[in-house]
Amino acid sequence: KAKEAGRDGFQFYTAEMNTKVHERLALQEAMRHGIAHCEFYLLYQPQVDLQTGRIFAVEALVRWKHPTQGVISPVHFIPLAEETGLIVPLGDWVLNEACRQNKAWQDAGLSPVNVSVNVSGRQFHEKNWICRVTRALRESGMEARYLELELTESLLMRNVDQAIATMKELQALGVHFAIDDFGTGYSSLSALKNLPVARLKIDQSFIRNLARDENDRGIAAAVISLGQRLNMRVIAEGVETDEQFAFLHDNHCDEIQGYHFSRPIKSKAIEDLLRSQTAMP
Ligand code: C2E
Ligand code: MG
Ligand code: MG
Ligand code: MG
Repeated sequence: KAKEAGRDGFQFYTAEMNTKVHERLALQEAMRHGIAHCEFYLLYQPQVDLQTGRIFAVEALVRWKHPTQGVISPVHFIPLAEETGLIVPLGDWVLNEACRQNKAWQDAGLSPVNVSVNVSGRQFHEKNWICRVTRALRESGMEARYLELELTESLLMRNVDQAIATMKELQALGVHFAIDDFGTGYSSLSALKNLPVARLKIDQSFIRNLARDENDRGIAAAVISLGQRLNMRVIAEGVETDEQFAFLHDNHCDEIQGYHFSRPIKSKAIEDLLRSQTAMP
């Protein structure tokens, strides 16, 4: 009897493992198919200057409209895309589409904004990464100074000297860089001071509990001073409430991004926001 249960238990375990492997393979295959069949699209979230209230940039955030499962969040497919290398063709598409869209807004006479694109380590460390970026700029016709690439600390710290060299080459063309999710990785301050970074994005985990957590308030205020002392702009991510907004305002944070101003929205809705802003003096 016990032997039987053990055997059954074992079979159950392998069956479950098998399902996991199958699910991953299926997801990978569906993603490959989805890239070829244009199932991915971009939403854009405004980044706002805290002093003027104006949108100065939008962050491109990818979504997957799966034919049967509906809209899938990037948190569910970006990790697998990174592991399998599918992030390279997908990331290329995101970069090209974001540049194309931003140029289209400019051509329509809207006040020019930057477009921020998330870049994963796998993309950044591709041999021809610089070519891929220059091609997206050339093919879209968007000036390089309107492009900001968001990199994470862990990506940057993997090989700091290499990262600096790559960034400097792109910076020479006019491209800007931001450190995403700042404070959650392993940045060393000595590396940070040498990175050609225009902007620090305070991770939303420090913003979430600002009202309740004195330590988070300390960290947020310290990152704001740190960035400003290093001649970087500082943006807070995930700003949702009036209290968070007031704290960031009082502590001279440069910029904010979050549901308090706008969720990530479709390009048409961004166009309307930019149009009303263009009409302002
Ligand atoms: P991220 O780059 O840190 O983007 C910010 C995330 O926070 C976005 O989630 C955004 O929708 C969400 N967010 C913005 N404001 C608020 C707020 O006020 N409250 C809360 N709770 N959330 C807010 P999303 O779009 O689901 O993207 C998740 C992550 O997926 C991104 O984090 C980024 O790491 C990755 N990702 C998204 N698009 C791309 C892409 O095109 N390429 C790569 N490599 N990664 C991407
Ligand atoms: Mg980002
Ligand atoms: Mg972030
Ligand atoms: Mg993140």
